[in-house]
Amino acid sequence: MNLDPVETRLGRPVTDEEAAALCAVKPLLEMAGGRGYGIGWMRENTSSENANWYGFAILTGERITTCYCTTPELAADTIASLLLARLSCPLCGRRIAPEFPEPRRCLWQRLGLRWASSCTDITRATPARKDSAS
Ligand SMILES: [Zn+2]
Repeated sequence: MNLDPVETRLGRPVTDEEAAALCAVKPLLEMAGGRGYGIGWMRENTSSENANWYGFAILTGERITTCYCTTPELAADTIASLLLARLSCPLCGRRIAPEFPEPRRCLWQRLGLRWASSCTDITRATPARKDSAS
């Protein structure tokens, strides 16, 4: 995604951590069959923290949004969590729990540039994954 508008609004270059959060959404969007996502702000003439950052993702016939975030990083992580909560883990097949453990769900957390599964249940992996791992 183009980070220039975000940097302009922040009044400084994005940090590596912010850029990682913003870029980590894209693979999840592809997993969800989405067509686009973005980060923006609702208030111009105020501090970055009061800018009311928002995020959105465009899915087939649907749009998910978050708003009133204090940072673009938080907006990106929230959109990622909303996407993940709709998905099943490709490795273990369980529904995904983003960020916090939930019973009978696979916990996913962002590790820098990507969201990763914490599951080790390879016995339930799909045949395609077993083949690609061998
Ligand atoms: Zn899993």
